[in-house]
Amino acid sequence: MERLQKVIAHAGVASRRKAETMIVDGKVKVNGEIVTELGTKVGKNDDVEVEGVPIDKEEPVYYLLYKPRGVISSVSDDKGRKVVTDYLPDVKERIFPIGRLDYDTSGLILLTNDGEFANMLMHPKHEVNKVYIAKTKGIPTKEQLQQLKKGMKVDGEYLKAVHVKINSTETKKNTAIVQLILHEGKNRQVRRMFESIGFPVDKLKRERYGSLDLRGMNAGDYRPLKPHEVKQLR
Ligand code: URA
Repeated sequence: MERLQKVIAHAGVASRRKAETMIVDGKVKVNGEIVTELGTKVGKNDDVEVEGVPIDKEEPVYYLLYKPRGVISSVSDDKGRKVVTDYLPDVKERIFPIGRLDYDTSGLILLTNDGEFANMLMHPKHEVNKVYIAKTKGIPTKEQLQQLKKGMKVDGEYLKAVHVKINSTETKKNTAIVQLILHEGKNRQVRRMFESIGFPVDKLKRERYGSLDLRGMNAGDYRPLKPHEVKQLR
């Protein structure tokens, strides 16, 4: 048995706080009856409705996918392009990606059906290290890279890296491989940050997410997270 607000939050309907408000406001029914008691516990066989819509009480599942380039971080695409969930055909639960990687970015992305877990990880105050490897057009100097750590305003948004380091450079090809660690995950953040210092990103890969990495995996591979890995992210 689980507390009603937790079940609603897990289903991805609302945050736990919002679920509490909805319960108190009489918007939640259990087995057809309005319930306003926050302590109410429900089990697998109870039917929960929020504003008249039944919620789904699937067991929470958690997966790590090595997203290839050329794949949309979504569960469907109206243009018929490949989406991340195409790579987990055997997963029957209704999973969705936690955050996004750009179409052209490869690397580590998590998928789950646990809305509360996803909201928690995407909240700015939840500072997970996300490690990216960027191949840049042109070779930035150390001073230019420092700018990424100092922070910058791009299109009215403040963007900042927590760590930046050049891994290697190729003078002939005029490219550098740069490792960048972010806490936030704003839209196209790495690409926008490098563009703003004049070094567009040619290739981008997310190598790590918290303590998780892609060791032993190839693009397109996925695996379930181990219970301790899920715990570590919370
Ligand atoms: N930053 C980007 O620019 N793209 C991604 O996919 C992820 C982070």
